[in-house]
Amino acid sequence: MIRPICRMGHPVLRKKAQIVTQDFLLSDDFSQLVEDLKDSMKHYGGIGIAAPQIGVDLQVAIIELQGVNRYGEVLDLPLQLFINPELHPMTEETQGFWEGCLSVPGLRGYVERPSAVRVVYQDQKGTPVELEAQGFLATVLQHELDHLQGVLYVDRIKDPRLLAFQEEFEQFIKERTIE
Ligand code: ZN
Repeated sequence: MIRPICRMGHPVLRKKAQIVTQDFLLSDDFSQLVEDLKDSMKHYGGIGIAAPQIGVDLQVAIIELQGVNRYGEVLDLPLQLFINPELHPMTEETQGFWEGCLSVPGLRGYVERPSAVRVVYQDQKGTPVELEAQGFLATVLQHELDHLQGVLYVDRIKDPRLLAFQEEFEQFIKERTIE
């Protein structure tokens, strides 16, 4: 089911999301939540979505990159579910991308983040999984998992002048972009 998106200003986006318990993870309600996340992400056209964005206070996010080409970097990540994730930067080196967010519609902002990260999380069966990522995927992961900590990309913009409306961004800036 497609669910309405909570936008910046909604308190659910500003709190640390609750851990998914093992019992809930194996329940029908949880499968339904995952379906709702997928439906909503596809409908609104994101490459990732986190549960708080549809008003659910739980540590779940999904990411799907299909033939996404950014910066000559072609990325394919089949739909991946991140439950109770912990993120660890793997380098002091940073990279910047122009980010966007379904919860902050119509805007783009330039954000610098660590260029390589390791994520430890659970899959839909509750099995622990580890993923290492760099480049654009590292940024997408950090953006989505920030949602589970009550953090929005706009919090991480160092230079507020590097925040623009989508149309002006395309007209005057159009560089690195993420959805
Ligand atoms: Zn977002």
